[in-house]
Amino acid sequence: MKVLVTGAAGFIGSHLVENLVGAGHHVTGLDDFSTGRPDNLAAVAGHPRLTLVGGSILDRELVRELTGGCHRVYHLAAAVGSFIIRDRTLEAIRTNIHGTEHVVDSAAGAGARLLVASTSEIYGKNDKVGLTEDDDRVAGSPLKSRWSYAEAKAIDESLVEAYVRERGLWAVIVRPFNTVGPRQSGRYGMVVPRFVRQALAGEPLTVFGTGEQIRCFCHVRDVVPALAALTECDAARGRAVNLGSSQQVSIAGLAREVLAATGSGGGMVSSSYLAAYGPGYEDMMRRVPDCSLARELVGFAPTRTLADIIADVIADQAGQGTPAGSGLAAGPRPAGQVAGAGPPRGIP
Ligand code: UDP
Repeated sequence: MKVLVTGAAGFIGSHLVENLVGAGHHVTGLDDFSTGRPDNLAAVAGHPRLTLVGGSILDRELVRELTGGCHRVYHLAAAVGSFIIRDRTLEAIRTNIHGTEHVVDSAAGAGARLLVASTSEIYGKNDKVGLTEDDDRVAGSPLKSRWSYAEAKAIDESLVEAYVRERGLWAVIVRPFNTVGPRQSGRYGMVVPRFVRQALAGEPLTVFGTGEQIRCFCHVRDVVPALAALTECDAARGRAVNLGSSQQVSIAGLAREVLAATGSGGGMVSSSYLAAYGPGYEDMMRRVPDCSLARELVGFAPTRTLADIIADVIADQAGQGTPAGSGLAAGPRPAGQVAGAGPPRGIP
């Protein structure tokens, strides 16, 4: 099939592109390289079934052009990461709302099946153990920049729902819960790559708040096959689907596991949210998914443990290459080019 992946050079996007190219599809990847890196696609660089285009989802014409003739569209491009949302709030809101509208409208026009990546942040401060897709959002103030990300993604979900109901679009929404693994950057706030980098450098791990806040981390290689499967699952049309692990860990517990796995003697240091993020930041104390729907629809059952995740992130950062099981079928690698690489198009 002809497939468009937005955010193709990003963390999840690059793993998805490998999966789709390996499955025999012709993939066009769009990325503005704001946080994505061409290096993330090194394993498929120059593959004859991959074209990488530098440009923004804010460029409506470009999105329309690339979507034309596509059978599938995976919309992963977004401004993500707590530091980005804090420092570039306006740009993030625009990208996450207007950019998504361009993709959704173009996919509808092209008659393509669409997967839209939303977020578990949708649930806000709802700390129920085992959040299901119908659970209420517990929204923080929209004036606190952290929540602007969830607000934008909530608008995206409503937009998709309306396109499905009023315009006949085939679309599925996914809500990933703390997807982590090789290639994720710690530069934008994500805790696992930050802790691993700090530990490998022998620095103290920076635990924000009490460290008692709970998350469930899911390996990107457990998440990516589910993205492809959901897009082929007729019963997933119009649904929002949680994707995550049920293995709970506190952030202090995560820090201890990273210290043990790296053998670092750097210890941990605690830091207030104010010092870490500036004024107006709120955290959620627990975020745990119920993934029964994904299991019912596509047999979703993550197999990798937190220990596996930490080991893979350590290997990635220590430059030991790609762990086995990337799902990429070996393919020829002629001197393919990155189409449109260079200054991203359409960035205001
Ligand atoms: N966190 C931390 N130290 C860091 C980065 C993050 O203690 O260096 C905390 C953060 O405050 C949050 C949790 O780790 O409570 C997960 O943060 P992340 O940004 O990875 O994901 P979130 O679940 O907040 O979207």
